Amino acid sequence: MGAQKIPQKKRAVEQGERAMIEGIFEGSPDGIGIAVIRLDCGCRKMAAVDKNGEAASKIIMYRDQAESICEQCKEDNGDFMRVTEQFIRWKKPEPDEQTKQKIEAKVLGTQEQQPAH
Ligand SMILES: [Zn+2]
Repeated sequence: MGAQKIPQKKRAVEQGERAMIEGIFEGSPDGIGIAVIRLDCGCRKMAAVDKNGEAASKIIMYRDQAESICEQCKEDNGDFMRVTEQFIRWKKPEPDEQTKQKIEAKVLGTQEQQPAH
């Protein structure tokens, strides 16, 4: 196993997110994309999806530059109501447009009107 030593340096948010995505891909050989859900508190939920739009990994929650997710997330487990953004990061080579749309619809649901902030 060997514990990974991650330097406690400040990292850009995107960089942290990308590293997480790569880590999930490594652990999920069937994954062709990672669903990324950003929450209003700054925490994220991520999970790999396979070519059929099925979950290919556990749902992982994390918070950038933090040991754990925030209190709010511990309480409501990243409630759907607090989602600010959701999308899928595709593994290269990316699947064709039709496949992507099909999986997005299945994983993220049809985009309903977001309540105005
Ligand atoms: Zn949170």
